[in-house]
Amino acid sequence: MARRPALKGTCTYCQLEITRSGATKHLDACAKRQEVIDASNAQGGKAETLFHLRAQDAYVGSFWLDLEMRSFATLADIDYYLRVIWLDCCGHMSQFSVGGWKGEEIPMSRKVHDVFQPGIDLTHIYDFGTSSETLIKVVGAREGRPTTKRPIALMARNLMPEETCIKCERPAKWFCQQCVCEDDSPGLLCDEHAENHPHEDYGDPAPLVNSPRVGMCGYIGPAEPPY
Ligand SMILES: [Zn+2]
Ligand SMILES: [Zn+2]
Ligand SMILES: [Zn+2]
Ligand SMILES: [Zn+2]
Repeated sequence: MARRPALKGTCTYCQLEITRSGATKHLDACAKRQEVIDASNAQGGKAETLFHLRAQDAYVGSFWLDLEMRSFATLADIDYYLRVIWLDCCGHMSQFSVGGWKGEEIPMSRKVHDVFQPGIDLTHIYDFGTSSETLIKVVGAREGRPTTKRPIALMARNLMPEETCIKCERPAKWFCQQCVCEDDSPGLLCDEHAENHPHEDYGDPAPLVNSPRVGMCGYIGPAEPPY
């Protein structure tokens, strides 16, 4: 896939459609999110630093996630989240580093508060063959009670890209791996053209899902958040 501008997304709290560049401003002002934060803080207990992280795919550039992470969560928690929501095809190796591919590797056991100093951008690489690369940066931080017992809260996510069938003008819902690998075609198909598509060496056309890994290795989704 060629490089593209960031897709629009939605706020998890109020479902409003937002842009990536406007996401931080929206989340900081979102009344529904503030209700969730107030309810968590009202329960009392110890406050902690909560990091607002943005993950975006490094190749296509259009997929993004805004996450709130607890400070004692580890990089392994981010790795798990990215695998489930975006990446996992066949359990490849992955790693975090500072300074891109050739940079210094950061162990998965490191805690978020220890790693995310101001100005630090992390690179996550999944699969050293057909690699998917994700950039993760700190957008902000707040002090408070976490809104979830889980390590991560999903605050916003890009919407599904709108693709067009390679055979007609209708919206694509499927893609064919054989088109991608052997015909150098995007392999995007509508319902009708997926039905009678002639390729079968790589199996039937797979449903299009909201992930930057579509068309890479054997990835078929489902691209749903783990929690
Ligand atoms: Zn909102
Ligand atoms: Zn794979
Ligand atoms: Zn079609
Ligand atoms: Zn095909």
